[in-house]
Amino acid sequence: MPDVQYGNPPNRPSVAERVIATYPADVDERDREFEPEPWGEDPKLVALLGAQGAAGFRALFDGFPEEVGVLWAVRDAGGRISDFSFGYGNPAMLRRFRLPAATRDRYTLLEALAEMRGSRAFDAYVRVCDSGQPWVREVTYDTPFGDGYMLGTFVHRAAKLGDGLVVFLDDVTEQRRMESELRGYADVVAHDLSEPLTGIALLVTVLEQRPEEPPPTDVLEQLRATTERARELIDGVLVYARSGELHSERVRLGSLMTDVAEDLRPGLEEAGATLDVGELPEVDGDARQLRRVLQNLVGNAIKFRGEAPLRVEISAVRRGQEWIVTVRDNGAGIAPAHASRIFGMFSRVDTEVEGAGIGLAVCRRVVEAHAGRIWVEAAAGGGSAFRFTLPR
Ligand code: ADP
Repeated sequence: MPDVQYGNPPNRPSVAERVIATYPADVDERDREFEPEPWGEDPKLVALLGAQGAAGFRALFDGFPEEVGVLWAVRDAGGRISDFSFGYGNPAMLRRFRLPAATRDRYTLLEALAEMRGSRAFDAYVRVCDSGQPWVREVTYDTPFGDGYMLGTFVHRAAKLGDGLVVFLDDVTEQRRMESELRGYADVVAHDLSEPLTGIALLVTVLEQRPEEPPPTDVLEQLRATTERARELIDGVLVYARSGELHSERVRLGSLMTDVAEDLRPGLEEAGATLDVGELPEVDGDARQLRRVLQNLVGNAIKFRGEAPLRVEISAVRRGQEWIVTVRDNGAGIAPAHASRIFGMFSRVDTEVEGAGIGLAVCRRVVEAHAGRIWVEAAAGGGSAFRFTLPR
């Protein structure tokens, strides 16, 4: 786990926990659409490498998928490093943290990221610069950075360059989130599975004690219910584990929705629901997995319905390079405080209603595997609108 964190207010979950729970749901549209403006030529880089060398350096790193930056040491009268100035940021870095071109002239490192003052990471940067020994560390951020914003967990690699540093960042937020969910599995599966197993063992003991009598129906019913609950848990975990695997083909969401409506017909009828399916697009994706997303979302609308007769609307709009699919209901709704959390594994709000808290985690994994995003908004007039994007 990261051992350096920035932006961690006291008495709150650690930055890592928060980032893991909410990222990337918290990254809004504006962040994604930020188009970086390249920083101009850096005189110090030219002084160090010559005009041709500096141009070569930029040509190499401008195309790098990882975030790359150069920091120059700012030394006080005694020659000690008191701060760093920005030299270069590649487009991946500028886009990732929404850094405008003016950042270099406007801020030093400590001005842009005040929490770094006196931190271990700052001392480490100084040491890299003075000793030439590289430094590798994982850092989680959720903090303003100059006029931009840093969010996520990154492996930092810093190496000496002239009287400064070249810093490489490798985004591991997604891996860390998966690992943390996997750790969560072990606990929940152990706990939730041990409960039905204890129940089953107990019921079997009851049956063993009366070998000559036929088993009472209520004991058999309980046995069936507890084994089904155990099976559901195991299936849920397996589905989640496999939901990142895709077999892509051309998929008509409209016909997937017809299948889903057919599967869920008993529930929809019982709820007296109206299902309103608008025009849905054809996309490239995994039919089974996408069907699961629609099934979970419509299934949840049925499960978490309110007093009013249930109405579910499924629609899609085209925006830029993506489709936005919406599943809207007029049900119980979700408080904004839970809006990010519910997409986590085993995360439930309404514990009165049966469920393992796996459905939305699966939706999220499937959608993200399709390079999309999923989130929930409050629907106008009550209820919730689950939205997900799929590339066109
Ligand atoms: P579960 O297996 O418990 O249904 P999900 O991951 O599908 O798990 O959902 C997580 C939680 O989100 C649910 O426990 C419920 O509280 C909330 N939720 C999901 N869908 C809806 C909805 N359409 N309306 C209201 N609450 C919902």
